[in-house]
Amino acid sequence: MPRLCLILFGSPGSGKGTQAKLLKQSLGIAHISTGDMLRERVASGDEVGRAVASLMQAGELVPDETVNRLVEERIEQPDCENGFILDGYPRTVNQAKLLAELLVLRPIRTVVIHLVVDYNVIIARISGRRQCPTCGSLYGMTSSVPRVPGVCDKDGATLMVRDDDREEVVRERLRAYEQQTAPVLAYFKKSGIPCWDVPAADVAPQVIAKEIEGLVRKERGEAA
Ligand code: ADP
Repeated sequence: MPRLCLILFGSPGSGKGTQAKLLKQSLGIAHISTGDMLRERVASGDEVGRAVASLMQAGELVPDETVNRLVEERIEQPDCENGFILDGYPRTVNQAKLLAELLVLRPIRTVVIHLVVDYNVIIARISGRRQCPTCGSLYGMTSSVPRVPGVCDKDGATLMVRDDDREEVVRERLRAYEQQTAPVLAYFKKSGIPCWDVPAADVAPQVIAKEIEGLVRKERGEAA
């Protein structure tokens, strides 16, 4: 069976992180998040970390060569033997081209999954979140609901809206995501790589993960 490269796209608030965790388990493949890898390097203070710290702090993309090199090394690790999920990569067409060159040299089956959630749903989801100013705990409207509305379960502090979760900030993050992602998705579609839009609102994460698992197994030539 060929190795699998599952490229996962999803806007902020789409549940991408949750899907990556579930799919890692069910498909038995590695989860590669470039954001996590870069944060680890910053925390360790190594050469890469020192070079990217200020860019990350400013919320800017780090240079393509840096992430490409990290990913190229990472996919050679033993836990990627069966395949891997790419989360947060590629973010630019240049990264996508380099990835395509890497993959073509290897017997790997590539599938792109785009989690699609209506932006109004995301805005309602995120702007309904509350955080405890004292301990940092996050609460939602449908999951992790506080026992007493507006009050932290742990220390009784009054919950607040995080600056990042204000509606205008969320709208701006979604706009930036769209602008960044659209050309990358278009590149994959044009290259003939299977790309699937998966509706990811109002259904339990496990149900969405099952659907993706089915699509991926079919693309990989396995019985569903
Ligand atoms: P966010 O969704 O907030 O961007 P991530 O964890 O995906 O969170 O990424 C955090 C930061 O890491 C980004 O703001 C960027 O500086 C850097 N980063 C992550 N992935 C990439 C990538 N593929 N290309 C360039 N920079 C990246």
